[in-house]
Amino acid sequence: MNDIVKTLEDIVGPEFVITSKEQMESYLIDETSIPVRPTPSTECILVKPSDSNQISAIIKLANEKGIAVYPRGGGTGLVGGAIPTKVGIIVSMERMDKIVVDKENLMAEAEAGATLGQLLKAADEAELSFPPHPGDEGAQIGGLIVCNAGGARAVKHGVMRNFVKGLEVVLPTGEILKLGGKLLKDNMGYSLMHLMIGSEGTLGIVTKAFIKLTPKTERTLTLLLPFNTRHEALKCVPKILNAGVVPLALEYVEREVMELSAEHLGEKWIVSGKVFLIAILAGGENEVFSDAEKMSTIALENGGLEPSIAERRDEQESILKIRSNIYTALKPRYGDILDTTVPPSKIGELAEIIDAISEKYSAYIPVYGHAADGNVHSHVMKEDLEKYDKIKEEIYKASIELGGVITGEHGIGKIRVKELYKFLPAKQIELMRQIKKAFDPNNILNPSTVLD
Ligand SMILES: Cc1cc2nc3c(=O)[nH]c(=O)nc-3n(C[C@H](O)[C@H](O)[C@H](O)COP(=O)(O)OP(=O)(O)OC[C@H]3O[C@@H](n4cnc5c(N)ncnc54)[C@H](O)[C@@H]3O)c2cc1C
Repeated sequence: MNDIVKTLEDIVGPEFVITSKEQMESYLIDETSIPVRPTPSTECILVKPSDSNQISAIIKLANEKGIAVYPRGGGTGLVGGAIPTKVGIIVSMERMDKIVVDKENLMAEAEAGATLGQLLKAADEAELSFPPHPGDEGAQIGGLIVCNAGGARAVKHGVMRNFVKGLEVVLPTGEILKLGGKLLKDNMGYSLMHLMIGSEGTLGIVTKAFIKLTPKTERTLTLLLPFNTRHEALKCVPKILNAGVVPLALEYVEREVMELSAEHLGEKWIVSGKVFLIAILAGGENEVFSDAEKMSTIALENGGLEPSIAERRDEQESILKIRSNIYTALKPRYGDILDTTVPPSKIGELAEIIDAISEKYSAYIPVYGHAADGNVHSHVMKEDLEKYDKIKEEIYKASIELGGVITGEHGIGKIRVKELYKFLPAKQIELMRQIKKAFDPNNILNPSTVLD
């Protein structure tokens, strides 16, 4: 390894090559829950390049020496994608974090190591907006793109894929490609850019992206619709969407997890009702109020309790903070978080099936999620880990039978490969293998991720 370290020092500078285990500890893990997190290799070198040419040289070296390369973003992934499991080089993108906003073209030109938080700030400073909120704000642009991250605000604007217009990528063989650009239309051959989006760091290292921004929305308001039963709440979702209301977000949550989250934040969840739809509405002043009225009427006609509107920023933030902290509140207690996705009209059916599974295995399985996207987050708790495989298998099977997928947001990473093989047709796996081979003939880029 010594000669590799020396060459890496020549490429990026000695201060950006780290071999000490203590200094690299946080780069060997991600946000995947400990019971299911892959074990990292103890023989890794961490490098922090500053441009694409350095990354290209690192990759060429790795090919020559036959060792793996692990692209590293913000480390917020939930499926072990960034964890180095073999001897290899971790390429952290953190120094590549510049963002330039082009107001005329409504585009941000962002280096891959810039975080979501930085992108939101840069857009805001240019009086523009990046409307989705596809992940943790510490996640990096590169990580968000290769995970095709979604988030609560996908209802109105879509997922990362809908905002990425161009990419610069270093291929696993070291060449640098520019795909797309500041373009709203591009039909020039197969879209390798869209293949990169969602490739989970297995087909190339994203170094730069052109990301679509929008003019600022004038107004947002948060609407809280309480119900006594899950059935009543979820029945309203297609009715709301059919009424022509397209909220920025439409979340489904249950009292127990909202209480847990509020308690975790030192607050109280005092709204009556057993389950809730939380909508964020965005648009013109009249539009948001008229949408809120339409949604409230639909909820009340379908068994809903008294709706409430949060207009002030602090009120809105308080509700959304409690919703977003469900994950953090449950974190010490859960063993894995699933994110299966079904056609939106089937979300109620899936929730009922999960309840039945919960009863069958005497397991507490909290369920919440992005209601209008059919994206359900269900947790298998630590105390039920001995039944984990069976519970997961049944939830996956039910989601597939309802016309869905085993993951709508978090991806396959290193912990869902077995299930990908089980639930994706063999022909699709075969084509994916051929694509991987065409991009990465020596299988050096993020091995054992998505495909083993
Ligand atoms: C609190 C919390 C909330 C979250 N909310 C959401 C949510 O709402 N929606 C959602 O979809 N996800 C969510 N996530 C998951 C996570 O934020 C996303 O998966 C995000 O896309 C990961 O980005 P990252 O930069 O942290 O990537 P990492 O975790 O560092 O890496 C993830 C994968 O991307 C690869 N990678 C990273 N950077 C690059 C690059 N430049 N080029 C090539 N490959 C690269 C890695 O090798 C790895 O395979 C959440 C996670 C947390 C902890």
